[in-house]
Amino acid sequence: MRDAVAFEEPSVGAMSKSGLSRNDLVARDAVDPLAPAREGFDLPPGLIYLDGNSLGALPRATAARVGETIEIEWGAGLVRSWNTHDWIAAPARVGAKIAPLVGAAAHEVIVADSTSVNLFKLVCGALGLRPDRRVILTEPGNFPTDLYVLQGIAGLLGSRVELRLVPRAELAGAIDEETAAVVLTHVHYKTAERWPMAEITARAHAKGALAVWDLSHSAGALAIDLGAVGADLALGCGYKYLNGGPGAPSFVFVAERWQEALASPLSGWMGHAAPFEFVDDYRPAPGVRRQLCGTPGILGLAALEAGVDAFAGVEMAALEGKGLALGDAFIDLVEARCELANLTLASPREAARRGSHVSFRHPDGYAIMQALIARGVIGDFRAPDILRFGLTPLYLRFADVWDAVETLRDVLASGDYRQPRFARRATVT
Ligand SMILES: *Cc1c(COP(=O)(O)O)cnc(C)c1O
Repeated sequence: MRDAVAFEEPSVGAMSKSGLSRNDLVARDAVDPLAPAREGFDLPPGLIYLDGNSLGALPRATAARVGETIEIEWGAGLVRSWNTHDWIAAPARVGAKIAPLVGAAAHEVIVADSTSVNLFKLVCGALGLRPDRRVILTEPGNFPTDLYVLQGIAGLLGSRVELRLVPRAELAGAIDEETAAVVLTHVHYKTAERWPMAEITARAHAKGALAVWDLSHSAGALAIDLGAVGADLALGCGYKYLNGGPGAPSFVFVAERWQEALASPLSGWMGHAAPFEFVDDYRPAPGVRRQLCGTPGILGLAALEAGVDAFAGVEMAALEGKGLALGDAFIDLVEARCELANLTLASPREAARRGSHVSFRHPDGYAIMQALIARGVIGDFRAPDILRFGLTPLYLRFADVWDAVETLRDVLASGDYRQPRFARRATVT
């Protein structure tokens, strides 16, 4: 048994594990200053969407924005739109809009490529800044693409690089004078466990190493302050909490102090100082613009811009507080109301150590998630046994948490998930 959980706002009153009611949550929605942000999203009625950490919901503005980009800018403007609609500046413009969400200066962020590609670029660049060091440190169980890209870099550069996977508990102590870069994901995609970004960055700096942060599961949900933590390099996903749409382009952060020294290994023409001089020799653009490689995808950028615009006027500390409070309520209610045989919390109980999703383990996790989805509660499953619930503070209500947990309670109590149709694995889980 655990201690009672209290919400931070005393006006709602202490809500114990056993005492939290649906009315309490409805009351909390009524006083939630972020509640109006939900109106900016086109959410299907009758559905509770707990997967905004995998694919953010569709903002109401997106279809018109993308439609305009297609019909007016592309259809009528044609190639002129690179100038007349300033397509050429879109990566920097959208980057500048993402910057305040992660505590960066406008000129430190640019949108380019995918998260996987950006990780490759930044880690190769970091190695270039530490030419006499060969160790890249990360943790086992990091997001697969991060590990695979690091393995690819090690394969490409051979003896120049040694990739070390060190378990979380020992990682800070493993940063030493051989370490070129520490490459970590701020919020773990399975457990939602959060790295203490400031501490790890400070430790890296004390040993002369760089810190590269993957913010895919935190940008747009947590109050990240890259400037305050002294982060060197970071990147993140456009289609999760930033609501940029499936496969949206990614963002890159390069602290101002590294911008003129950091080279991109993908030295494409859009990162050239003067792409339209068409000269033979590469000369990197000043600033973060050298992180561009090829021609930016303008339709993807238009959708991402609409997603990022949904944050207008939103204070990130309040957003983080709401996401964590949603998580506290979710954990509280699951443990108070659901059959707990085989269902165990996989996320930190302490909100300050979590991101904005909550995970539980269950040996029948896949089937349970399918049964939930069949009843209109959409989360996802991460092998081998993780049920993952994204608690997107921008468009989720406290009452949704109650309703989702009641659905989970019924799925477990009824044994409904044991139907063979729920065991059939789809390609994407
Ligand atoms: C979602 C996610 C990615 C996605 O990378 P893509 O290149 O967009 O497929 C990468 N890293 C982490 C930690 C993620 O959570």
